[in-house]
Amino acid sequence: MATIIDGVKVAAEVRGRAAEEVRELAAHGVTPCLAVVLVGDDPASASYVRMKERDCAEVGIESRDHRLPATTSQQELDDLIDALNADPAVHGILVQMPLPEHLDPESVIERIDPAKDVDGFHPESLGHLVRGLPGFRACTPAGVMEMLRAYDIDPSGMRAVVIGRSTIVGKPMALLLLEANATVTLCHSRTKDLEAVCREADLVVAAIGRPKMVDASYIKPGAVVIDVGINRTDEGVVGDVDFAAVEPIASAITPVPGGVGPMTRAMLMANTVAAAHSAAPRGQG
Ligand code: NAD
Repeated sequence: MATIIDGVKVAAEVRGRAAEEVRELAAHGVTPCLAVVLVGDDPASASYVRMKERDCAEVGIESRDHRLPATTSQQELDDLIDALNADPAVHGILVQMPLPEHLDPESVIERIDPAKDVDGFHPESLGHLVRGLPGFRACTPAGVMEMLRAYDIDPSGMRAVVIGRSTIVGKPMALLLLEANATVTLCHSRTKDLEAVCREADLVVAAIGRPKMVDASYIKPGAVVIDVGINRTDEGVVGDVDFAAVEPIASAITPVPGGVGPMTRAMLMANTVAAAHSAAPRGQG
C-alpha cells in the first residue's frame, strides 16, 4: 500500500506560509498584488482564474482582474502588459493561457518583466533554472518538488523518469529534479520502449495528457509516482496514471484530483509573495 501524497494538505501549508509572509510584509506597508489577465470567454480559463483569485483572497494577496474581450488585438494586450510592468504596486503578472488564436503567446510571455514573471515561463526565468540561479520556477514542477519535500522524499541519487517534454511541465520538471541530484531521463511521444525505461525509475513523473496511460507495467515496485495529468473523461477528471493499478505497487503516489493540481495554484501564491519581497525597498520585508 502506497503513501498517498495529499496535495490538498501540502497546498494548504504552502498557502499558510505565504499568508504569514503577507502579514510580515503588511507590517512594512507592502501588500503583494497579482494582476490576472484573461482574454476571451473560455469557460475553463475563467474558472481557473476564479480559483486563483480565491486563493489570493485567502492568502491576503490583492488580485487585479483584467478581463479583455476575445477580439483584443496584440497591440492592446502588449499595452496592458507594459502598463502592468510599469506599475510598482503590481508584483506579479499572470496571463491565463491559452490565448485566442490570433494572439502570440510567446511574445506575451517575453514581454512580461522577468521580475514579475510569477508563472516562471519567461525565457530569463527558464535560463536561470538551467544555470542553477535563483528565479521564478514554473508553478507545476515547483509544486511537485514541494510535495516531495513535504513527504521527506529526497530525489538525490534516484533514477527519475519524466514523461512529457512541455516547456511548462516536463522540461522544467526534469531540470528541477536534476538540481535535486536525481539522475534524470526525459521521455516523450517518440521514446522507444517507454515502459522499460520507466520500469528502471525510482521516481516517475507523468505529464502526458493521456488518461490512465501509465499502468502497473511501467512501474518498478516501490517507486514514487507523481501524476501531473488532468484529463476530463466520461468518468470525471482522471490523471495520466492508472491509480487503482499502480497504487498497490508504488511506495508513494499522488491522486487525481487532490494531488499536483492544488499545488500548482499554491506555488503561484508563493511566487507572488516572493516577487513582493524582492520588490520591497531594502530593509523591508
Ligand atoms: P503537452 O501536451 O504540452 O505535452 C505533453 C507531452 O506528453 C509531450 O511532450 C509529448 O511528447 C508527451 N506525450 C504525448 N503522448 C505520449 C505518449 N504516448 N508517450 C509518451 N509521451 C507522450 O501537455 P502539458 O501542458 O505538459 O500537460 C500534460 C498534462 O498535465 C495534461 O494532462 C495537463 O492537463 C496536465 N497539467 C496539469 C497541471 C496541474 O496543475 N496539475 C498543470 C499543467 C498541465
